[in-house]
Amino acid sequence: APRLRVAPSPTGDPHVGTAYMSLFNLAFARQQGGSFVLRIEDTDRARFQADSEQQVFDTLHWLGLQWDEGPDVGGPFAPYRQSERLDTYRPYVERLLAEGKAYHCWCSTERLTQMREMQQKLKQPTGYDRLCVGKTRDERAELPGFSETPVVRMLIPDDPPLQFDDLIRGRVSAPRPDDQVILKADGFPTYHLAVVVDDHEMGITHVVRGEEWISSTPKHILLYQWLGLAPPAFAHMPLLRNTDKSKISKRKNPAARLTWFKEQGYLPEALVNFLALLAYPPKTGPDGEDVEVFTFEEFSADFDWTKVNPVGPIFDLKKLEWLNGVYIRELGVGELASRLLPYLERDGVLSGNPSLGELARLEKVTELIQTRMALLSEASALVAPFYTADDLIEIADDARAQLKDDSGEVLGAAIKVLEDIDDSRSGVLGSESGWTAAVIEAALRAAIVEGMGIKPKFAFGPLRTAVSGARISPPLFESMEILGKTSTLARLHRLHD
Ligand code: ATP
Ligand code: GLU
Repeated sequence: APRLRVAPSPTGDPHVGTAYMSLFNLAFARQQGGSFVLRIEDTDRARFQADSEQQVFDTLHWLGLQWDEGPDVGGPFAPYRQSERLDTYRPYVERLLAEGKAYHCWCSTERLTQMREMQQKLKQPTGYDRLCVGKTRDERAELPGFSETPVVRMLIPDDPPLQFDDLIRGRVSAPRPDDQVILKADGFPTYHLAVVVDDHEMGITHVVRGEEWISSTPKHILLYQWLGLAPPAFAHMPLLRNTDKSKISKRKNPAARLTWFKEQGYLPEALVNFLALLAYPPKTGPDGEDVEVFTFEEFSADFDWTKVNPVGPIFDLKKLEWLNGVYIRELGVGELASRLLPYLERDGVLSGNPSLGELARLEKVTELIQTRMALLSEASALVAPFYTADDLIEIADDARAQLKDDSGEVLGAAIKVLEDIDDSRSGVLGSESGWTAAVIEAALRAAIVEGMGIKPKFAFGPLRTAVSGARISPPLFESMEILGKTSTLARLHRLHD
């Protein structure tokens, strides 16, 4: 059965590209009944960040992109962290050195920098000039720019294989590589050696990764050849792009960080759906129409590499927002309420560990805002009136500005009829009397629309302002029901008096 992997480097906040690569790896692995491996590529000690690995686990878990083997869950090819596999790489390097496929290089960083600057100045192709080839340590030590701790480089032959087959792109040609360093002075392998050794040792059959690795693939294929190994299949995914075609990057786009999506209140299932659509066509509905909303299982079921679009997709957050709204509206109210809870707690609207009563009330509030949200983080402002003390409701400027001369009369009339509603039976299922939205609405319509002859459009504005402090709010009568009689009247009085 196929074995696939995602191999993030723990160099900071996980990149949205890591989720995107994981998704396409996993879709194929699941469809084929294969395995999906998470490997941590932490050989770059300069860029290593200790908390990054846990963030990779957390964000991929959040998205439901579960791996079968990895540093945290173990597996038959453990360890799954490259820094713990240094002994694995060493014999491969020894073999390449012994067979003359690789050589030690003692050139100092300063010499390499000077060499590159000179090549650039003379408009020559940049690349290592092979000063160390064929020299012993002592021979090389005689020459300038010597460093005591050597690296190991590949000796790229005159005609290296530069073409390979890609599951997405067909036949691909890449430029001729330089004498690539495979073992660094600190004893760590570079990515290029480690990726080949590990993909082989871990039985990886399909390497699915970003298109920025196309130019490295000839080096990898050469290493496979030298080691007498069959290379895996390759699929190079298109990189995600801004509207100006530049690749989205963590330095320029907050939305390149996976944690950003969680903070903003995107649903993981909406993000997964969105990432799939970026490089994959919509499904076809019963009448031949495009179906853009689908689950991971539906995506995986008929996944096909040849359908992946090799052209870098535009990362269109408007589309994601739309999808998120669709998913929010499809959730059960109880489920949505529990997903809102962490955001409401984060924003200080609700305190931690709400009681059962508070949870039941949150469900009622959630029902009122379910169709009015694109992001979970928007809920805090929308529900704030329900969690603010009556005397602390702040009337927004635009809400106050639209109060008319007759607002006082409207508020007075409302107070009068609402006082007469008996709230002792509120909450009785199906009751047609008591403090319910229907009873409240009927009373207010009779008093203000019919009694005072004010059009509904204008009749309820002052009430909305008094109750929520805002010009636009969740539905008024339902809001009054949830707030209860005492609270509603207190708020009306506050604006009236
Ligand atoms: P920056 O993008 O700012 O350079 P970074 O250097 O942290 O941030 P990389 O370390 O280059 O990003 O990439 C991390 C992972 O994300 C890699 O697996 C890479 O393939 C993937 N990745 C990076 N940019 C993109 C992109 N635009 N679209 C898809 N995947 C990407
Ligand atoms: N560590 C590499 C990265 O972060 C993995 C590339 C690959 O999948 O081969 O992009």
